[in-house]
Amino acid sequence: MKWGKVVVTGGAGFIGSHIVDYIASHFLADEIVVIDNFSSGSLKNVEHHLDKKYFKLVKADLKQYDPSWVDTLKDVDVVFHLAANPEVRVSSIEPRIHFNENIVATFNVLEASRKHDVKMHFFASSSTVYGDAEKIPTPEDHPLKPISVYGASKAACELLYYTYTKLYGFSVAVGRYANIIGYRSNHGVIVDFINKLRRNPQLLEILGDGTQRKSYLHISDAIEATFAIIRYTEKEKGFQVFNIGNEDWVTVKEIADIVVEEMGLRNVEYRFVMVTPDGRGWPGDVKLMLLDITKIKSLTGWRPKLTSKDAVRKTVRELLGKENI
Ligand code: NAD
Repeated sequence: MKWGKVVVTGGAGFIGSHIVDYIASHFLADEIVVIDNFSSGSLKNVEHHLDKKYFKLVKADLKQYDPSWVDTLKDVDVVFHLAANPEVRVSSIEPRIHFNENIVATFNVLEASRKHDVKMHFFASSSTVYGDAEKIPTPEDHPLKPISVYGASKAACELLYYTYTKLYGFSVAVGRYANIIGYRSNHGVIVDFINKLRRNPQLLEILGDGTQRKSYLHISDAIEATFAIIRYTEKEKGFQVFNIGNEDWVTVKEIADIVVEEMGLRNVEYRFVMVTPDGRGWPGDVKLMLLDITKIKSLTGWRPKLTSKDAVRKTVRELLGKENI
């Protein structure tokens, strides 16, 4: 696998910047173009590439179909489409943001790709497309019944991709990520807990009843999985959907315990904030999430190296600056 030119949308974000690092460190492409509007991404995540010949940064908003970024797709071999608003919680309060940031932006990326005949894509989807799954662990062929606008927007994007594979001969590797965590994480429960405990080391407010149980995957495992499914899709072509998650799960209360322990705190009072009657963190929050990863394991040979708990602990240590990746 050696490409000429690749584009990473959202490449200044958490997962996108790790994808850029992986491509650069494995010499997978001659040229890497990052398109990002820095709404949640940071220049710091890519600053080590800025003076490199292979690297180009385009500051642009994908919601606007504009030649400033559209024409950077000329002669591109692969588009890694990571740009989105990843905040599930926000989507229940401001649904329009997710419609625009996720669906409109994705449609524009597809149209720009059609214009420049870029056939190979990776799309960052999410476990939230399944909603409250009837089957756990949840396999890829489970019905898509999202309970958040975020999940619905990801499902809609998947359908757009599917149609572009049928109509225009695109190939797309769809990665339905579980909770991805690690160095450069900028949102989610771990970041939230660390920030709250820095502000008040005696009291931790926990959204929901703390029994929410989900699968967490460390970024190092997630990146390996992402490239495993791209390699597979380059070979097999068409629309290929894979769950990318861990084989076990961890509760929100267990995450709180790990964060408190790693921050060296004692006697922290947990205050559970009941936002919904059944103890979810927020309306639209899935309470139980564990993806069936049989497919990716059997077709690509990938498997996670760290358990959910180990991934949580490693992430806390990385975010506290106690450990590097
Ligand atoms: P992130 O917020 O760190 O990265 C998103 C990046 O996209 C940011 O750099 C942001 O500035 C950029 N962006 C957003 N809207 C844009 C626009 N209109 N134009 C240009 N750039 C734009 O989030 P992340 O956690 O790295 O997530 C990356 C992708 O993976 C997202 O699509 C997200 O939905 C998906 N995903 C993430 C997780 C997770 O646990 N982190 C789980 C499932 C799916």
